[in-house]
Amino acid sequence: MLRTIDLEQAHAEDSALRDELRRISLALANSKKVVVITGAGISCSSGIPDFRTAGGIFTKKKRFGVKAQDVFSANVFQTTQGQQAFNQVMGELKEAIDQAQPTSAHQFVKQLYSKGTLLRSYSQNIDGLEELAGIPEALTGNGRDINPDGKNVQLHGTIHKLKCFTCFVESEWTEDFLSTFKSGQAPKCPACEKDQDPNRRRRNIGSLRPAIVMYDEDHPFGDDIARLQNHDKECQPDFLIVMGTSLSIPGLVKVVNFFAEDLQEDSILYVNKTTASATLSKPFGYHIHGEADLWVNMVFDDWGHTTTPTPPKTPAGSQLQGLDDEDPVYMIQLEACNQFLFLSLPVLISSIPFHAEPTKAAVEVSCNQCPRIRNPPMANG
Ligand SMILES: [Zn+2]
Repeated sequence: MLRTIDLEQAHAEDSALRDELRRISLALANSKKVVVITGAGISCSSGIPDFRTAGGIFTKKKRFGVKAQDVFSANVFQTTQGQQAFNQVMGELKEAIDQAQPTSAHQFVKQLYSKGTLLRSYSQNIDGLEELAGIPEALTGNGRDINPDGKNVQLHGTIHKLKCFTCFVESEWTEDFLSTFKSGQAPKCPACEKDQDPNRRRRNIGSLRPAIVMYDEDHPFGDDIARLQNHDKECQPDFLIVMGTSLSIPGLVKVVNFFAEDLQEDSILYVNKTTASATLSKPFGYHIHGEADLWVNMVFDDWGHTTTPTPPKTPAGSQLQGLDDEDPVYMIQLEACNQFLFLSLPVLISSIPFHAEPTKAAVEVSCNQCPRIRNPPMANG
């Protein structure tokens, strides 16, 4: 059954809600194969406008007579005004994206990648902030090559490459191209121009367009993406996080359903400031209601107590051997201050005498967020 946790409420008071979030942080810290599906909501705080954010590129009601919300549908190319509106929005968007930095939400996905527990990130965003955060792209080059170490898939392509729809060659952005787009025009394809043979009949010279996929267009590398998704599902993910998307795009809902069907409800999180607009075939276990950045910062806060060294598989001479499950993290509540600690096995072991019961002895671990606890009580008196 879906549990909704209001982030502001959990943040404001150290309530039962906050404890529930800590348990989710712990479960995430112990998960091994996480699939993350994200949308525009994770990039908002970087300054990139989305459709709903006031004061952005899309708040101009019309450009060249075209409504802002129609700019990303494929039939925008059917009229000259549509093309002009699209070009101008692309120029302004590229300029805004070039100024943007990854958000806490991107850093969180990066952290999963660094921990080795990110199975894959599927992003609806075209801004490339995942790659900027250090998560390698799965679809590289002209999109046709799968990078086996790539962990992020841009479901709607990327704004950072330009593509000619006559010769299909990709080009890099230049300052001149940016100005051309901002004026509402599309630059001529350099590859087509270079290919002109003066001795032959002139061929068409194509124009450039960012290599993004419009809402009602098929992804040119859809087969590759489907293969990746099948591969990932065969790997049996143990956690699914859907973050910063209202799930209004049917294609994305399909991806969520695809991964959700084999998972326990408790391992399916929805993190978004609005409720999902689609009904899923398998409900989410939790709706963490609020800004993605606020939630991931709480997770970081919880994980802040977690140490990074890889724990030994079987710590010699310790009674904790039986507890080991590869590299679990333990959540411990201190008796004196009720703070929660997240401890990896080596820290737990080094913090307590080997003969002690871990649950009792853990109170000897001092809390680094709580100056009141300088001399935590002894466990085994
Ligand atoms: Zn061309």
